[in-house]
Amino acid sequence: MCAGAPLDENAYAYLLGLYLGDGHIVRARKGTYLLAIYCSAIYTDLVEECRSSVRAVFPVKPFTREKPGCTVVQAVSKHWPCIFPQHGPGPKHSRLIKLDAWQQEVVRAHPQQLIRGLFHSDGCRATNRVRRMVSGEWKYYEYPRYSFSNTSKDIHTILGDTLDQVGAKWKLVWVPTKAAHHQDTGTLSVAKRDSVALLDTFIGPKS
Ligand SMILES: [Zn+2]
Repeated sequence: MCAGAPLDENAYAYLLGLYLGDGHIVRARKGTYLLAIYCSAIYTDLVEECRSSVRAVFPVKPFTREKPGCTVVQAVSKHWPCIFPQHGPGPKHSRLIKLDAWQQEVVRAHPQQLIRGLFHSDGCRATNRVRRMVSGEWKYYEYPRYSFSNTSKDIHTILGDTLDQVGAKWKLVWVPTKAAHHQDTGTLSVAKRDSVALLDTFIGPKS
């Protein structure tokens, strides 16, 4: 960006998804910034891909910190705000999250990687099992679906637009919170069989 160096766009689109879902940038010492991406500790492949994407996007040495149930992938650089211009004070739902023109271009070229990153951070692939009586017998059916939960309307817009681009059908439902100091959460789900099959070609269950 600021250095004019070539960008690994594939890794960037994935990391952007992780960052928008579960990442933070905070000011550190001497004009540097700390990028922190929270991953579930049980998904070791995902943690590894997060680390390698950080390295591919910028020549830094990521390090990890263990927290209860989660592994935080971190890296220090002066340039995180150039790489993720969505950086700003306060939680993401309280500020405008809009991709810059160059980021939109990267996402248009690598939509699947952004979608993967978002579902890998704040999403999951789960299977609903339902029981139906068919000619006097109970039959069990499984319906896999993808869902993504986040409190930022802007991030839902980015995901929805990108799913439209690849041709996946989705639905977004907002559940109002009753708790004080909590935000309403929007859950986007992809449940239509064809669309789930499409996402399975490039996402699949987390591991
Ligand atoms: Zn910079």
